[in-house]
Amino acid sequence: MDCIFCKIVEGSIPSKKVFENERIVAFHDIQPAAPVHMLIIPKKHIPTMNDVTAEDDALIAELFAVARQIASELGIAESGYRLVNNVNGDGGQVVYHLHIHLLGGAKLNGLN
Ligand code: IMP
Repeated sequence: MDCIFCKIVEGSIPSKKVFENERIVAFHDIQPAAPVHMLIIPKKHIPTMNDVTAEDDALIAELFAVARQIASELGIAESGYRLVNNVNGDGGQVVYHLHIHLLGGAKLNGLN
C-alpha cells in the first residue's frame, strides 16, 4: 500500500516515535507547526474521519486518550494544547491515513 503513514507503522520509513502499542503510534511531525507537534495515528489504515465506522469507536477514543497522555508527559496539559483532525481537501488533509495533530508548547493563535 502506497501510504506514508502505513510505512511509518511498518518501520520502513523512519520516524521519531513517542508512543506505540498494538493499535496506535505517535511520532514527531516532520514539519512542526508549533514547539510540540506530534501525530497520533491508528495502525489500521483508515483514510479519513469520514471512513470511521462504529466498529472503530474504541480506537478513536484511544487516539484521544494517547493524545491526552502525551500532552501530560510533555508537561503541556495545564498550559494547553490543540488537537486537530483535517478532513479532505477543504480541511487541508494531505496524508490520507487518519491522524490527530497534537500542537502545543506555545500560545497558538487562530484556527491554524
Ligand atoms: P494533514 O495536512 O493533516 O494531512 O497533515 C499531514 C502531516 O503529516 C503534515 O503536518 C506533515 O508535516 C506530516 N508528515 C508528512 N510526512 C511525514 C513523515 O514522513 N513523518 C512525519 N510527519 C510527516
